[in-house]
Amino acid sequence: MAKERGDGMRRRKKLIRTHEWVFMSIVCILIIGLLGYSEITKAIDNEEYIVTFTPEKEMCCQLKKEQPLRLTEPTVTVSPPENVVYLTFDDGPSESTEAILSLLKRYQARATFFMLSPAMEKYPEGMKRMVEEGHSFGLHGVSHNAKSFYESTSSILGELTEGNRVLERITGKQTMLIRTPYGSVPYMTKTYRQVVKEEGYLLWDWNIDSRDWEYKDVRYVQDTIYQLEQVVREGKVPVILLHDKKSTLDHLERLLVYLQNNGYVMEALNEHLSPIQFKS
Ligand SMILES: [Zn+2]
Repeated sequence: MAKERGDGMRRRKKLIRTHEWVFMSIVCILIIGLLGYSEITKAIDNEEYIVTFTPEKEMCCQLKKEQPLRLTEPTVTVSPPENVVYLTFDDGPSESTEAILSLLKRYQARATFFMLSPAMEKYPEGMKRMVEEGHSFGLHGVSHNAKSFYESTSSILGELTEGNRVLERITGKQTMLIRTPYGSVPYMTKTYRQVVKEEGYLLWDWNIDSRDWEYKDVRYVQDTIYQLEQVVREGKVPVILLHDKKSTLDHLERLLVYLQNNGYVMEALNEHLSPIQFKS
């Protein structure tokens, strides 16, 4: 009996010790867990601190670094105002020029006309009006033939000089704005670009091709608006290629209404702007 009672006491003591160990282990796990959690929280807090403040710090310093550089750059160009759109009409003047001018006037729009010499000779009437109504001139050459225009540096300069001669005879003005036939790519080689630049010409391409010459209907307006929204989203100033012709005139008002309703200001290119050029 006594032996049995002694054995029972030992078993109970052993059981109590086991329970103590289990309890102590749970307490230890809880303490370690809490310490670990607090360390993780601190780490996350630190990380948040870094993520929040580092980019701002970098942005401030990059801006500071860039400012003196801008001052050393040539200051011949000016930035166009916000919401400006440049409408450009190639290949004119034509029998539609006067009607185009009237429409532009109705919407307080100014534009740039890249004109061909034979067309200037044929339709000089609208050209004086262009001056009076604040539009600008550009040269588009004489032949509008890629083979003869781009034959050599002297053929290019010859056509441009002839363009200015005719322009001056009709309007009393010359221009340094040029758009070479079919755009500068692929025809304007590095040498050609250098030569026209040295002569003081400003070579303008475009970043929106209305494809009015191809559609010949209202689809050119829809396509232009679609491209315009993309160009604006990319933060670029829209320069739209149009043509001085009847089928363009027929749907031009829809484009002007869209531009006016969306707060755009339609301006003429000038010789203080840095030209948009295709990458050769
Ligand atoms: Zn053309």
